[in-house]
Amino acid sequence: MSQPVTHAPDNCLFCKIAAGQIPSRKVYEDDEIFAFHDIHPWAPVHFLMIPKVHIASMAQAGAEHAALLGRMMVLAPQLALAQGCNPYPAGGFRIVTNTGAEGGQEVHHLHIHVMGGPRPWLKG
Ligand code: AMP
Ligand code: ZN
Repeated sequence: MSQPVTHAPDNCLFCKIAAGQIPSRKVYEDDEIFAFHDIHPWAPVHFLMIPKVHIASMAQAGAEHAALLGRMMVLAPQLALAQGCNPYPAGGFRIVTNTGAEGGQEVHHLHIHVMGGPRPWLKG
């Protein structure tokens, strides 16, 4: 049994970005998903994908989110190529979702990092 979805705190940075209340460099948007460039990129291509609904982290993801999270995972490779990642297998990309303090999560609205492009990268 999953934990309930955490209600969006009034001050969630990524809720505000998804709502257009805080500016971002948009990569993609549909009814459920928003993607934007990371403000401190680790790699030549580095963007974040978020659900528009507030889910604090992967620890709060439940069966009701399976289709949405699946859509995000299937969309990631398409956006990666569109943003300049080179094709698999010589190119590729990295998908990371930090979860919780020990997982390195700083912003508590579930997000997928998508990183790629020619090496070397700043980190990772
Ligand atoms: P995490 O440590 O996985 O929670 O990563 C949070 C990410 O959000 C970091 O890579 C930050 O650079 C990025 N970030 C924080 N604020 C913004 C912002 N206003 N616009 C774009 N990216 C941001
Ligand atoms: Zn949020």
